[in-house]
Amino acid sequence: MITFKKTLLIFFFSSLLLMAKPDVTLQVLGSGGPESGDKRASSGYLIWIDGKSRILIDFGGGASLRFEEVGARIEDLDVILLTHLHVDHTADLPALLKSSFFTSASGDLHIFGPYKNDLMPSTTNFVHRLFDDNDGAWQYLGDHLDGSARLQLKAHDLHKSLKEKVIYKQGDLSIKAVSVHHGPIPAIAYRVNIGDKSVTFSGDMNGDYHTLEKLGYKTNILVMHNAVPKKAKGVAAKLHMTPLIIGEIAQKAKAGSVVISHRMIRTLGKEKETNCEIRRNYEGEIDYANDKDKYKVN
Ligand SMILES: [Zn+2]
Repeated sequence: MITFKKTLLIFFFSSLLLMAKPDVTLQVLGSGGPESGDKRASSGYLIWIDGKSRILIDFGGGASLRFEEVGARIEDLDVILLTHLHVDHTADLPALLKSSFFTSASGDLHIFGPYKNDLMPSTTNFVHRLFDDNDGAWQYLGDHLDGSARLQLKAHDLHKSLKEKVIYKQGDLSIKAVSVHHGPIPAIAYRVNIGDKSVTFSGDMNGDYHTLEKLGYKTNILVMHNAVPKKAKGVAAKLHMTPLIIGEIAQKAKAGSVVISHRMIRTLGKEKETNCEIRRNYEGEIDYANDKDKYKVN
């Protein structure tokens, strides 16, 4: 017989269990690529933890408006993760930083991204070129780098041939990163772990380094960029994964589900073909992202 005392105990312990498990949601801010005409914001994602917009992954054109629309708050952001520095992954950063002036955002906002090569600046240099108070494009925002504004941007470079490693840790949040192959462009994939839940982001890549399957091993949600269709060849295939490769990686990683994003005019409308290609290797759930879609991480 269940007594009142026992009921209280069950309630107490189930509440403890609930408290121990953070509520984690992935939200797509931008499901598009760099094109105009796809009616999508460029690449951008948010991780909500217990109702707070804590982690931002990429912030391309249009993502700033989506950030507002979904009720995200810059005050709640801890970290920005840039997969690489192409325009469709970074263009709205100045808008985000300026908007912080009108909020109570304070402390350090960490921003991670790749180190330089001959084609691209390092992430620290990129941030410097944008905001430095001597020679930045938006030098009037330089107080976010020199210690005088309430909110300080702290940029970090990740080595261009980065082996998988933990780059950020705070409580039960830890972020791992590894280099991925995006043609000649330094690029990074990230895995965000919150307790025993995780979301892994491919960024733009073609799979040649074979690092993502390990980074994303048994991840709950694997966000994969579908920038090219089945028959892609040449430069496009050097930069991006074909759907077949998406399926191979998802299968090797034993990902719980796959969210297909960075959708472009050349892949939109080809979901049936893309699905068939992914299904040659991967049997798990496949979702096609639209802006503002939310995925609860279980
Ligand atoms: Zn891109």
